Amino acid sequence: MAYITLRDINKIYPNGYHAVHNFNLDIEKGEFIIFVGPSGCGKSTTLRMIAGLEDISKGEFLINGQRANEWGPQQREIAMVFQSYALYPQMTVFDNIAFGLELMGVDEEEIEARVKKTAAILGLTDYLDRLPRALSGGQRQRVAIGRAIIRKVGIFLMDEPLSNLDAKQRVTMRSEISQIHKSTGATTIYVTHDQTEAMTLADRIVVMKDGYVQQIGTPKELYFNPVNVFVAGFIGEPPMNFIKGKVQGGAISFGANKLPVADKLGSKANSYEGKEVVFGFRPEAISIQPVSDALTLTAQVELTEMLGDNANVYIDANGQKAILKVTPHEIPAMDEALTFYLPTDQIYLFDGETEKVL
Ligand code: ADP
Repeated sequence: MAYITLRDINKIYPNGYHAVHNFNLDIEKGEFIIFVGPSGCGKSTTLRMIAGLEDISKGEFLINGQRANEWGPQQREIAMVFQSYALYPQMTVFDNIAFGLELMGVDEEEIEARVKKTAAILGLTDYLDRLPRALSGGQRQRVAIGRAIIRKVGIFLMDEPLSNLDAKQRVTMRSEISQIHKSTGATTIYVTHDQTEAMTLADRIVVMKDGYVQQIGTPKELYFNPVNVFVAGFIGEPPMNFIKGKVQGGAISFGANKLPVADKLGSKANSYEGKEVVFGFRPEAISIQPVSDALTLTAQVELTEMLGDNANVYIDANGQKAILKVTPHEIPAMDEALTFYLPTDQIYLFDGETEKVL
């Protein structure tokens, strides 16, 4: 197990493109860290710098407190699982998992014992004699993971490992990856664009956008205390609802709706008069039943989606659209005009210009 430090890490590609800006992070021993963000935000570039597959342009990278910028992938004692499983098609599952150990000259008896133990962890015991083509996508991914974890490395890197699986397999593999992490205890860095994967797997999440770290925190911290509009909108499904408007007389108004924001702005209320703010609330925060200490919103029900354990309700409040999450027993009729209640302690306000939380 290893701990990792990234200090002001930057990546400037040879063509001059600045893909990662001043990335700072301390990863503890055994921690499960997830880099999340839209495609092109610099997640894989950062992971590849950690793996030693890509030069670090600026900044310092340390493993167990020792500068490792110049170390090759071997010296870093890292195992990596890629999106494409990269299994050897002509080799059995056993040989695919054993391959790395054979290269290292580990003796046969030990290889056999370790492959069997790894296969047992991954539920592959009955498939050891098969060729990869006779496996499902999920089983192939498990073989790729097996090949990585059998090496007993200190750091385990995964780049979108579930993206080639169907929705059901992804859910199964997600919990398996979580269990594998518990049983190996390896420090893990995992890249995904999927916020659900990040929320369900990570000890801490790093949210990235355009090469910049936006926020680092536990899933709960990011959900309840997002630092800006981007993180608030990226974490959570359906995403947080936003209403942008100018503060006039301590409220933002649209049609017959008026949302008072002065209380929430507190001492900043005066300075925000005449300025734009972004008003945010989560789909589950808004209620059809009256609640105390709440703002009200009058809106038209445009569409309802029954999902089973809950339902999504799409509303339009004088041109401002929002999504609500309700129980299946609360689904309102379509086209109904209703009053919705929004507890004041579940409101978020962001600066309209900087988009930072207020
Ligand atoms: P992500 O993993 O978040 O999808 P990447 O780290 O792969 O993003 O890429 C970040 C940015 O760097 C993208 O804009 C991408 O086009 C650019 N990029 C990636 N590899 C190279 C390269 N070899 N040369 C120049 N730009 C690159």
